Amino acid sequence: MTPTERLDLATIESLACDALLAKGFSHGQASAIASNVTAAERDGCLSHGLFRIPFYVAASGNADCDPTAEPVLFQPDGAVVHVDAGHGFCPHALDVGLEPLADTARQYGIAALAVRRVYNIAALWPEVERLATEGLTAFAFTASNACVAPAGGTKPVFGTNPMAFGFPRSSGPPLVFDQATSASARGEIQLHKREGKSLPEGWAIDADGQPTTDPEAALAGAQLPFGGYKGSSLSLMVELLAGPLIGELSSRESAAHDVNKTGAPFGGEFLIAIDPQRCAPPGQAVDHDARAERILADVLAQDGTRLPSSRRFAARERSLVDGVDVSVHLLETIRGYCA
Ligand code: NDP
Repeated sequence: MTPTERLDLATIESLACDALLAKGFSHGQASAIASNVTAAERDGCLSHGLFRIPFYVAASGNADCDPTAEPVLFQPDGAVVHVDAGHGFCPHALDVGLEPLADTARQYGIAALAVRRVYNIAALWPEVERLATEGLTAFAFTASNACVAPAGGTKPVFGTNPMAFGFPRSSGPPLVFDQATSASARGEIQLHKREGKSLPEGWAIDADGQPTTDPEAALAGAQLPFGGYKGSSLSLMVELLAGPLIGELSSRESAAHDVNKTGAPFGGEFLIAIDPQRCAPPGQAVDHDARAERILADVLAQDGTRLPSSRRFAARERSLVDGVDVSVHLLETIRGYCA
């Protein structure tokens, strides 16, 4: 078993922030990333927790990366809000763009946020959860570095291209899902490699296009979309929304841009927010909440089901009280940055 050390969440956040500050990140960038990775540790999403700090540090070494960038908000007339992240990282860009997105969605009923020129190595659930907690239905999409072959093919075209969805609930935390459109996130393959574990079948093919369960061979070959051609189409949709639609890089272009092979995708994130109150037919009230709760209750009435994010929310309850166990090896690396 990997040796671990138990830390409370405040300690994790200040350690992450101090490490990034020591590596030349501005306070705005460092604190936004630290808050993001701490939320991932808190919710048991280890592939996007402190594990990501070395990736942020490596990406900051890219010639065009600016770990001190101040994102710039543009809001021309209309319902699309723009943030130019200035070659910085996504958490800080979202700190700048999410509130204007929410305000604009309330104004028009629906709004979009196009985040451009951004390094994005974070999970997407924090942004859709935040919007849904404010009463908005939310979607988020980002392309990444090409590593996934389209259904039927053998060469990477898509990134792991995640998409996230949030739906507000008055009874408690929103319904949220956040999933790669590949059979697994790339971080999961990296974690399997680090821990010397085989991959489940169906996650990847090797460089010759043959199915593999070896993480090393998978990283050299291609990951597979989930669910065959259906996941492949969703990955294509994410690629088009977060790339060409907002004038940003495709996953292949992002991989070519990553000359130092840091694994950090560069390009765009696209978000949509909808105000449910503005979706009712004119002159009629719709009790979205009660109607949605009936559907969720029907799902949960069956043995073997659960709602997406229920695992995260349960982990959150535990870690707020008990803290979380972090790999000693990872802590040594991150503390080394501060030294
Ligand atoms: P998972 O397959 O672990 O989970 C996907 C979603 O399904 C989660 O919302 C999860 O909820 C839910 N879920 C899992 N099991 C069940 C179940 N039995 N019933 C109902 N819902 C379930 O995630 P992925 O590996 O696909 O992605 C992991 C993360 O990687 C995501 O946060 C994604 O944003 C991120 N990512 C980021 C990229 C980037 O470039 N920035 C690229 C690719 C991925 P729960 O959390 O509660 O388990």
